[in-house]
Amino acid sequence: MAGCEKTRQKTQKTVIVGAGPVGAMAGIYAARRGHEVEIYELRGDLRLPSITPLNFTRSINLAISERGLHALRNSGCPGLINGILADSIPMHGRMIHGSDSSGSLTQKAQVYDVHGEVEETLTTLSPVTFGQAIRAIDRAGLNKRLLDELEAMPNVKLFFNHKLTGADFRNKAAWFEVEKEHDDKLRAIEIEVQFDFLIGADGAHSATRYHLMKFVRMTYHQTYIDTLWCEFTIPPLPKEEGGGYRLSPNHLHIWPGKRFMFIAIPSRNHSFTCTLFLPSHEFSYLSSIPILVEPFFKQHFPGVIPSLITPEALQQQFAQNPHLPLVSVKCTPYHYAASCVILGDAAHAMVPFYGQGMNAGLEDVRVLFEQFLDATDFADPAARESALDAYTKHRYPDLVAINDLAMKNYDEMRSGVTSRLYLFRKWVEER
Ligand code: FAD
Repeated sequence: MAGCEKTRQKTQKTVIVGAGPVGAMAGIYAARRGHEVEIYELRGDLRLPSITPLNFTRSINLAISERGLHALRNSGCPGLINGILADSIPMHGRMIHGSDSSGSLTQKAQVYDVHGEVEETLTTLSPVTFGQAIRAIDRAGLNKRLLDELEAMPNVKLFFNHKLTGADFRNKAAWFEVEKEHDDKLRAIEIEVQFDFLIGADGAHSATRYHLMKFVRMTYHQTYIDTLWCEFTIPPLPKEEGGGYRLSPNHLHIWPGKRFMFIAIPSRNHSFTCTLFLPSHEFSYLSSIPILVEPFFKQHFPGVIPSLITPEALQQQFAQNPHLPLVSVKCTPYHYAASCVILGDAAHAMVPFYGQGMNAGLEDVRVLFEQFLDATDFADPAARESALDAYTKHRYPDLVAINDLAMKNYDEMRSGVTSRLYLFRKWVEER
């Protein structure tokens, strides 16, 4: 079982919808508790080379923080957390890019935590660890590691290319559409799957949540912000110059702007994945007059063109990479009776400015199992229902808070980091 110990419980069939990071993590937690786990995923297996890469619709890399690492650590799979730590790059702070009044480029580092030197002297006095960092990780690499771990567990079955189309949570049945070959043609057929417990981890546009709404009086709030995002790549230095990083790999780089911002996160191949966040009408304007993209970058994101990205690559990536929306979802309750719960983006999609969407989803899994399900007789529906009731009540205020913080951090990242008040506060803190 790939380094995992198996633990307790009567056999219960847990169906998980979605094999993204949260669904895969939930599968590991359920399987370790002895459930018979079946995971149904809409896409093909992302470990196969023929499958559309995740970055077609999702960010290439992301920041994993202690919130997510804690869930991975407690998964009981030491190989998993060690592999993920080895794959990731620590980012100890932000690096704010700009230019001074003479037009010279400036870079100012803002560390996230008290320095490492302090750690050595203070950890003996306090259990708090200093010098903490968030870590950049490749999204697909993380997801593949989780799927490998699941595949090695004897009580887990993975079903790719299966799309949830309906569910009856009272009678504990779900329906999935799957394409089967019939007379040399692919035909969509529907299969029925029975379950004891279903976990919906099928993302921001969750079909599980949609069907759950027919069974509970769900309060639901969805907001699209007026900002879109588009990805770019800063390549490594050429081989003849050493092939290394063009910027410090241990920072999250930010070029702030009032209405927009550009950020860069390191990858292990010495490139950076960058994201431009910009109001939708400005994306449309630049798309309609592509010749303006380069001067726009030169004016607002000093130093990016041409030393980090060539003008040609910038034009090409702006035109070819998708300009994608950002949605925030709040809802409650997250469950129905003893038979269904939604986790991750399905329950609380948030804008990405706090870097906590996936981290909060991984934390959902840990909190649900460790704090609520483990304390109950999982096989007893009445006990499980009270555990799920308690989970919704406990988790909702925290998730609303982090969702709101993510929205507020947009202002902080694009302009707060350069405000006089912010810089004064940092100056005082560092003394
Ligand atoms: P998803 O990753 O969306 O996975 C859901 C899975 O369900 C998918 O595999 C999907 O194919 C499948 N599915 C969907 N519908 C069905 C269906 N009907 N039937 C079966 N399967 C289905 N978070 C961080 O913590 N740190 C970051 O730095 C960060 N950066 C981000 C940057 C950007 C630009 C964006 C947009 C988001 C970022 N996030 C970040 C948020 C993070 O991407 C999400 O919170 C995370 O992917 C949620 O994981 P999930 O497993 O809940 O959902």
